[in-house]
Amino acid sequence: MRKYVIIGAQGSGKGTQSLLLAQDLDLVHISVGDIFRWHVQNHTKLGAKVRRTMAAGELVGDDVVEAAVRDRLELHDWNYGFIVDGFPRNVRQAEFFLETYDIDGVIHLDLPDDEVRRRVLARRLCSGCGLDYNLIAHRPKQEGRCDACGGELVSREDDTEEALAGRLRTYHEKTDPVLDLFRRKEFVVTVDARHDIPAIQHEIRTRLGLPMPSGT
Ligand code: AMP
Repeated sequence: MRKYVIIGAQGSGKGTQSLLLAQDLDLVHISVGDIFRWHVQNHTKLGAKVRRTMAAGELVGDDVVEAAVRDRLELHDWNYGFIVDGFPRNVRQAEFFLETYDIDGVIHLDLPDDEVRRRVLARRLCSGCGLDYNLIAHRPKQEGRCDACGGELVSREDDTEEALAGRLRTYHEKTDPVLDLFRRKEFVVTVDARHDIPAIQHEIRTRLGLPMPSGT
């Protein structure tokens, strides 16, 4: 059983690296942001509760987030373990998490703020199938259209300059102390997130003593 947390600023590649780890290690990828986006898209009660907060780039209340994480983990569909992405984001959430679960490692993707801005403002999402694009690294073949389903590519509602500035401020104010806490209690692996995707994946696996994916 492997239980990891992945922490990094917006655009540091948490989702991409988590999926690469999850695929062949059979880990369940739990992204709190994805859970909330699903609720917003499907107009659930929870979606209505978190929509404005998310669009403003602010943190959703701890009780709501903790309930979402607890409900997700209580499904117990993670026979081989999990990788939690986007949680904990402040010290209270970290303490809640540490009381309930023991973690094998914390992966910290380190990215300077100017690179965060460059990447996030270039990020696009297919409004049809949800596939991620990036106008720097992963451009669609036809401008503004999804290669897979032809859907329209849009920016995430919280990927504006204004919301991003708020999210970055919150990240440093609230999430930097989480890393300090984990450094004291847990095993934190800090990886330079400016490198390319395979190099970062390689570094994470080496540092955590994990097998490399087959074919590499
Ligand atoms: P993300 O996709 O991780 O950037 O999350 C998108 C948004 O969901 C954040 O800007 C917050 O509004 C909300 N959110 C996600 N995870 C958390 C969390 N751990 N605590 C509070 N709000 C969160």
